[in-house]
Amino acid sequence: MSFDPSVVRKDFPIFETEARGKRLVYLDSANTSQKPRQVLERIQLFYETENANVHRAVYELSEKATAAYEGARAACARFIGSESARSIVFTRGTTESINVIRFTWARENVREGDEVLITEMEHHSNLIPWQLLAGETGATLRHLPIGDDGRLRLDLLEDYITDRTKLVSLSLMSNVLGTINPVRAVADAAHAVGAKVLVDAAQAAPHLSFDVNDLDADFLAYSSHKMCGPTGAGVLYGREELLEEMPPFHGGGEMIREVWADRATWNEIPYKFEAGTPNLAQAVGMGAAVEYLETLGMDAVREHEMELTAYALERLAGIGATIYGSRDLSQRGGVVSFNLDGVHPHDMSTIVDQEGVCIRAGHHCAQPLMRRLGVPATARASFYIYNTTEDVDVLIDAVEKSKGWFA
Ligand code: PMP
Repeated sequence: MSFDPSVVRKDFPIFETEARGKRLVYLDSANTSQKPRQVLERIQLFYETENANVHRAVYELSEKATAAYEGARAACARFIGSESARSIVFTRGTTESINVIRFTWARENVREGDEVLITEMEHHSNLIPWQLLAGETGATLRHLPIGDDGRLRLDLLEDYITDRTKLVSLSLMSNVLGTINPVRAVADAAHAVGAKVLVDAAQAAPHLSFDVNDLDADFLAYSSHKMCGPTGAGVLYGREELLEEMPPFHGGGEMIREVWADRATWNEIPYKFEAGTPNLAQAVGMGAAVEYLETLGMDAVREHEMELTAYALERLAGIGATIYGSRDLSQRGGVVSFNLDGVHPHDMSTIVDQEGVCIRAGHHCAQPLMRRLGVPATARASFYIYNTTEDVDVLIDAVEKSKGWFA
């Protein structure tokens, strides 16, 4: 069932380029992924043979554009197990998807004295919108703690989900620790008090097979650019009945049904949330990315990343690195945050860059989590379908060199 990453690598033109005159070792896919030829060619084909605005005109070219755009929506629905494409709102990415909920559902449903629950490991995209909402409404923002193993303290859930909880918003996979969160258990507790559940699947969608129904998510967000697709595209999934009830987000063309001088009625879902000309080619490219990943098979993607992660954890431990998060591969994905005594992660990433290795260093848009871990920053290597054990070996050699600099 599995694939050969060195063959997959050939689908990605970027690997024909070098970094600092060396083989490009790209270990920053949690930040953004590289793009395969299949996706790049699909975008090119759209502009060359299908380009027109969607939904508006009756001529054949517009019908082709609409079919391509709506085909991508159907692929994005299938990818997360949503039975209906009406549940799929195209956005610019996870950040925008979460903000749509902040400005629509949350504004109508969260009041002073209510609570919004997130976790201690959230990306700023799933933190700042709720801080802003709390400031506007007088609601309280709470953070479910994590344990020293980088996993959620489910034992505390009863204290954190109360009659006042209106929304629980959490990531399915952490961009720092790689932790895969038990979303279903949290969703069951949230639903028991009538709260809604928003799942940040920015890190999960590229790497894990999951189903919105099994998660029992009310809303779910993911980004195209982390899963082989172009930037500027993403998905907000919402249960149909919730999307129906929600007020629109942006106002403008496409999202209306009928307009008078002083009022308007709204288009059906999901178009009610897609004002203006959408990112057509990007959405089509995201659909192609979904098909590309489906061809590899998401179970095979996961299997490959578990193997690489196991190897990386072993090799990093072998050079004395401090690794953050669980060592249990069934509980984590291919994002590995680490530090080496005496080497600042920024210095480390600058030094490994000299060897053609791209890793990220910093707070990874999760400053409260860094405080919880007691560090200002970490180095982070993240793996994807085109990475090989050779990449890990190059990383380890390069990281060891950084040790030498400060010895
Ligand atoms: N949530 C998580 C867990 C992420 O890793 C990211 C991207 N680093 C985001 C949200 C935001 O995604 P985007 O920048 O594509 O909107």
